[in-house]
Amino acid sequence: MSDILYIVSGLLIGLAFKGGLFLFAIPGALIALVLAWLNRPSLPTNKANTATVPVLRATRTTDATAIGRILRPAVTQTSPTLSARDTFSAYPGDGDSSLDKLKGNEIWDKLERDLDPIYRSILRALQTLIPKTHTVLLLFKSGDGKSFAIRQFSAEVEAEINMNARIADGSGVVGQLSHRDVNRILEGDLLNGKSLGYYATVPMVHSVAGVPIYNSKNQRVGALVVDSLERNAFNTTLIPILDSFAAMFYMLTYKSYTSASNYREKKKFYELSAYQQKFFKTTLLKDTYKEIFEYVSQNFTADRIMILVFDNLEKEQGTVAFCRGEDEKHFEGMHFSLSDKGILPLAMMQHSATERVFNGHDYVYRLNDGEPRNSTLRYLFAQPSSMTMHNVAMNRPSELAICIERRQPIKFEQFEKDLLRFMVNIAYFAYQRGMQFEHEQFEIYHDALTGLLNRRTINEKVMELNKVHQEKDVGVMMMDIDHFKHINDTYGHQAGDTILKGIASRISSVANQGENLLARYGGEEFFVAIPGATEETLKETAEAIRVAVCSSPFDIHQGAPIPVSVSIGCYLATREFQGEMERAVHYADDALYSAKEGGRNRVVVYQDRGFENEDVEQGKE
Ligand code: GH3
Ligand code: MG
Ligand code: MG
Repeated sequence: MSDILYIVSGLLIGLAFKGGLFLFAIPGALIALVLAWLNRPSLPTNKANTATVPVLRATRTTDATAIGRILRPAVTQTSPTLSARDTFSAYPGDGDSSLDKLKGNEIWDKLERDLDPIYRSILRALQTLIPKTHTVLLLFKSGDGKSFAIRQFSAEVEAEINMNARIADGSGVVGQLSHRDVNRILEGDLLNGKSLGYYATVPMVHSVAGVPIYNSKNQRVGALVVDSLERNAFNTTLIPILDSFAAMFYMLTYKSYTSASNYREKKKFYELSAYQQKFFKTTLLKDTYKEIFEYVSQNFTADRIMILVFDNLEKEQGTVAFCRGEDEKHFEGMHFSLSDKGILPLAMMQHSATERVFNGHDYVYRLNDGEPRNSTLRYLFAQPSSMTMHNVAMNRPSELAICIERRQPIKFEQFEKDLLRFMVNIAYFAYQRGMQFEHEQFEIYHDALTGLLNRRTINEKVMELNKVHQEKDVGVMMMDIDHFKHINDTYGHQAGDTILKGIASRISSVANQGENLLARYGGEEFFVAIPGATEETLKETAEAIRVAVCSSPFDIHQGAPIPVSVSIGCYLATREFQGEMERAVHYADDALYSAKEGGRNRVVVYQDRGFENEDVEQGKE
């Protein structure tokens, strides 16, 4: 009869785990176990046992007050020092390969909270079901995997148990359960509870029985132990019950663990897909970088996050587009080249992830030797965007990489690395789109040769200046290169183009500041507007431009430097100026005409009272 009931309870337990119905099946299993226990056969002969721990003579349990015991108040307590997480981290490979000790705490906490009442009620049930029981303990291997620690117990007297006890492998009676040849302990004649290792104040415990808890790889991850104040309280019939409960404890823990870690992983992937949508809404690169940062900082513990882009193909140069954390001010905007010795350019060149753990004395350049060394950062993981056919064909590095560093030398889990790889590739598409968008924007508003604003844009901006000039005086300048036709004719159109670019950059170096607007107005004509100018500053700036242009000849054909000069017409539209900005531009143009007339390479300011020639050095003509 009892055998059948054991089978029934075993089946119910099995069913519970297979179908996830344990809430329904466990009570059934427990009832079957109770019945099995009450119907247990009369004292079996004490068969020789394979355990190395001597098995004491078992006596028939005569206690008939099982019902009365159910009413006995009991104490249960959960160890604050041992978690299910420790159980799994001591045995890598059973769940995740390594546990992230930094993130996901809330999920682990939830797991602990979920497991607590389940452990408690089962231990409580065991305590009341097994006659003469003083304490029932659920032990798991502690983090180091070399000792048992108490996860939870059910007893009559709380104060007796030392929750911080560590029972080292092989020590005392319970420590024997770590030994691979010992698959149970059964003692009936102890002197007291001292040899058990878990009592703080030692009661007169005489009997103990226990079995190991195995994980799915048949490693010992814990133990289930019962003890009694009576001598020879337990016999071998208890062992299969303890074994099934031990298996159940493991299954419960494992199931909760896997569902917690699955939940954690799923949560992260859901977050990623939410971010993906955000990325595709961004068009500006700086917004894309912000989104990347936000995602990474929310999902990975980091003390420095860097986004690196390989953005200058001509110079084979990359830039740290974004940096938050340690030395962020130094790193953000920093350029690096592929010939630099840093591990990050190398990772981008090789299109492969880089992971490093540092001990604090072994600094390795992230980019190059111009960077600040920070030896508090002990872990680095960098993931470049995947190789595309394009950059393979061009033998180019990855165009985007994310680098995460942290102070604790704790590696990412595999799924986190996977997550980051997906993430980088999503970010890479967003980056490419951003680049293309910004490039198109630039082309719409700028002149392709010089990079200055184009004529259409400057016309619009000049219209907008009407608003500004109610508040500020606005200085405008028109300039035209002297005898440029001659330069083209003599040196060729291409040389002419190079000089145009050179002149634009000389104008920029003087005037590209503040709210100033610089444009290529026509073929070899340039326009500059200076909001907030005074007559003085306008003249000064114009003069500075003139000097900058003619200061040194362009050395395009070696041995034949080409001297260049520019004529500039200026007009200051004061607040009193009643006309439209367009008219101000016309006045500047008139002044330019006058500068040409006056001999070129000079600045002429249009005055309402007429032209005023500046005293300028006559250029060589
Ligand atoms: P000046 O202004 O001193 O009176 O004499 P100029 O020879 O510069 O006369 P003008 O301003 O009329 O000349 C315009 C010349 O500029 C005509 C054209 O060959 C040249 N030009 C205009 N746009 C470009 C360009 O994009 N590239 C090159 N290389 N030349 C250009
Ligand atoms: Mg011209
Ligand atoms: Mg000209």
